[in-house]
Amino acid sequence: MTVQLQKMKMLVAGEWKDSATGARSSILDPSSGEIIAEVPRASKQDAKAAVDAARAAFGSPEWRDMDSGKRGRILTKLAGLVRENSDELARLETSNEGKTLRESKGDVAWAARAFEYFAGLADKIEGETIPVPPKRLNYTLKEPLGVTVHIVPWNYPIALASRSLAPALAAGNTVVMKPSELTPLTALKIGELALKAGTPKGVMNVVTGSGAEVGSALVSDKNVDGIVFTGSGDTGRQVMEAAAKNITHVVMELGGKNPHIVFADADLQRAVKAVKDGIFTNAGQMCWAGSRAFIHESIYDGFVKDLVSKTSAMKIGPGSEETTEMGPLVSKSRQETVLGYVKDGVSEGAKLLYGGKRPSDPRLDKGSFLEPTIFADVTGEMKIGCDEIFGPVLCVTKFKNTDEVVAMANETDYGLYGGVWTNNLKLAHDVASRLEVGGVAINEYLVTFPQTPFGGYKDSGIGHENGVRALEYYTRTKNVSVNLS
Ligand code: NDP
Repeated sequence: MTVQLQKMKMLVAGEWKDSATGARSSILDPSSGEIIAEVPRASKQDAKAAVDAARAAFGSPEWRDMDSGKRGRILTKLAGLVRENSDELARLETSNEGKTLRESKGDVAWAARAFEYFAGLADKIEGETIPVPPKRLNYTLKEPLGVTVHIVPWNYPIALASRSLAPALAAGNTVVMKPSELTPLTALKIGELALKAGTPKGVMNVVTGSGAEVGSALVSDKNVDGIVFTGSGDTGRQVMEAAAKNITHVVMELGGKNPHIVFADADLQRAVKAVKDGIFTNAGQMCWAGSRAFIHESIYDGFVKDLVSKTSAMKIGPGSEETTEMGPLVSKSRQETVLGYVKDGVSEGAKLLYGGKRPSDPRLDKGSFLEPTIFADVTGEMKIGCDEIFGPVLCVTKFKNTDEVVAMANETDYGLYGGVWTNNLKLAHDVASRLEVGGVAINEYLVTFPQTPFGGYKDSGIGHENGVRALEYYTRTKNVSVNLS
């Protein structure tokens, strides 16, 4: 697939702009290392201009007084435009992030659904009437927060951007989005489509640049009322510190070290496929990756044999090729980090069952590819058993009984998601309730829809995305008391 070099600008106050300094960044295709686009490298000054634009748009009657039904119609139109442009968006995502075209198409469809879902909720954000002693009327108003900043990582650029932009706009906020400096292309396109859909100037701003400079300036700005951060725990802590200085609302969607638990009576064919896909989709670069698999001892040998056999048959290559099942990692630096973890695993005594190196195909030399990798005999004390590797590395462990496996699954600082595999209903619900995670899938793996809440326990985050309750994080509550005597 050839993507022509695109020289793009960023969206501030409804205008397409270069950065104040004129600096630009090159955007790479991780499957070839080629430059595919250039975008402005924004400075602190640009970050401030974007927040000021969003603040002005928030105060303008055009947006503030807009009928909520009309806001919904704008979001419906945006969803339609995302669908109309889905081929281009998917190609951009694959060329920039590396994932397969099939995955990118799924992400784009997901983004359209998110806009559509929250479009339908825009005119259903309701306050309450509260019974109080007689001769009084007491009610609440649900008001937008104001200016919200959306810090989006590189692994699901369009899906994660849409996931938080949709409820923020539906609730009447104005937004500043900062995509990762590695993957800004679909975010810029979403900005373009939002303008086309009818968002007034300044309601949606997209600034491209580094997290260290632009991201930190945005989250430290006193004029910002809410921050939605999706990324690593380390950066999340820095963002929370910055937010604390200004008492800014935060939603944190952080990492995971998610367990699959496979009991002996499970549908093993299904479980093997889901465990494989749950770690090798998007080359394992997923907060929800099922990176630890606990397999009951009675089925362990056969399960692992089948898993390794299916994994070794996977086709690795550029995401743009039809037959590719796993694309590259997002960058050479991620490739090095994950290779470092493989080394750690071997030196800590885990058994390398498959993969662990760059693929031998010379065609893939220039890209940041890695073989899908499986370790056995991993314990919670090992670095690979507790760190979020964020790459295609699965850690497999044998278990004897339910209490033991629940304890092992919970033996992590993370608490994002978990998979339970059994045909015993009682056991499935019991384990689901005992896992210290924000979401559990039984007999399938990861299920998220725009209408179902997603968020982490423990170090995996604060707050929720998706679902009606996500609107809580983009609104504030005002109580009004009226004396009627
Ligand atoms: P980072 O935390 O490094 O980056 C995430 C985002 O934060 C990027 O847009 C980055 O910009 C920006 N950023 C970096 N430094 C700052 C700063 N000081 N202030 C404000 N913003 C900043 O994460 P990764 O890019 O490494 O992404 C992978 C991590 O994200 C994993 O830990 C993963 O689990 C987590 N994640 C969680 C998800 C969830 O829903 N729970 C979903 C996806 C990922 P830039 O890239 O330009 O530096």
